[in-house]
Amino acid sequence: MAENVIIIGSGPAGLSAAVYTAREGFSPLVISGTVEGGQLLLTTNVENYPGFPDGIDGPELIDMMRKQAERQGARFVHENATDLDLMARPFRVSAGGKTYETETLIIATGADSVWLGIESEKKFIGKGMSSCATCDGPFFKAKDVAVVGGGDTAMEDSLFLTKFANSVTIIHRRSEFRASKIMQDRVLSNSKIKVIWDSAVEELLGDTKVGGVRIKDLKTGNLRELKIDGLFVAIGHKPNTDFLKGKIKLDDKGYVVVKNIVETDIEGVFIGGDVADPLYRQAVTAAGTGTMCALRVREYLQNKKPG
Ligand SMILES: Cc1cc2nc3c(=O)[nH]c(=O)nc-3n(C[C@H](O)[C@H](O)[C@H](O)COP(=O)(O)OP(=O)(O)OC[C@H]3O[C@@H](n4cnc5c(N)ncnc54)[C@H](O)[C@@H]3O)c2cc1C
Repeated sequence: MAENVIIIGSGPAGLSAAVYTAREGFSPLVISGTVEGGQLLLTTNVENYPGFPDGIDGPELIDMMRKQAERQGARFVHENATDLDLMARPFRVSAGGKTYETETLIIATGADSVWLGIESEKKFIGKGMSSCATCDGPFFKAKDVAVVGGGDTAMEDSLFLTKFANSVTIIHRRSEFRASKIMQDRVLSNSKIKVIWDSAVEELLGDTKVGGVRIKDLKTGNLRELKIDGLFVAIGHKPNTDFLKGKIKLDDKGYVVVKNIVETDIEGVFIGGDVADPLYRQAVTAAGTGTMCALRVREYLQNKKPG
């Protein structure tokens, strides 16, 4: 028999959808992904999720959300969804060698940050290294930080970080920014920001947390060290939508195209969280759109099965 609802993804969006649909009695099946929990697993301190006045550890917050969903009756399959058939009714979802059928689908697979791709960064993510200035900027009051990137996000992050940090150094691979002129002007006229052009971070330095970076001048090959307390990477995000290509409408960056916040062009398929959100990318906004998906699932199922 087909499921009422399958939720793909187990970050704040997927788990919020699971709590709501489970409470409604729809017994949701969550295909949680092989890396269960999503991006919050990368942070030890979440200070902006309402309800936790002293902040909360990211993995702990996710664990609580999962327990809450399970307690309400959500079921979990620890696999990645690899294929979908959205032309069929019920829809079909392939995961871990099995095919599941479902009346409705919530896709909440998130968008991963693009990191630098150097070995030493793995040790420091969440320990002075971040890809979310909005989330982690306030931890760097009166500290020295660096930002990697040259687009609008890197400019926005740098300007935002000047509210807290003593100094912000932008490290950029090229000799000019890709960002809009107005953002560049704001950055270049800010006395707290300096730019190191034509350079890339080659190594992160420090014992238990970021203490500096080794930077390579890409024109001369010269190496230098910069003492910093925090490194923010702003070189993009990759939505986890490879398995959706050709099945659902994606924009040129791979984000799912939505209307009315969570609707897709296929009735009964809803989208929540960062996978459709290149703009806000916060746990609470992901939880919010995950919840909206759940409410739309209820409406859809009620209309489908009147009485
Ligand atoms: C370092 C860092 C620090 C952050 N700090 C904060 C903070 O302090 N406060 C805050 O509000 N936000 C913070 N964020 C942002 C926040 O984590 C995200 O906005 C939020 O997690 C997005 O939730 P989501 O459910 O949309 O996606 P995600 O959390 O990315 O979860 C997506 C889920 O989908 C799964 N998945 C992917 N592909 C598949 C597939 N094919 N099949 C099945 N499952 C799949 C993944 O394994 C994962 O479980 C931070 C982000 C980072 C990177």
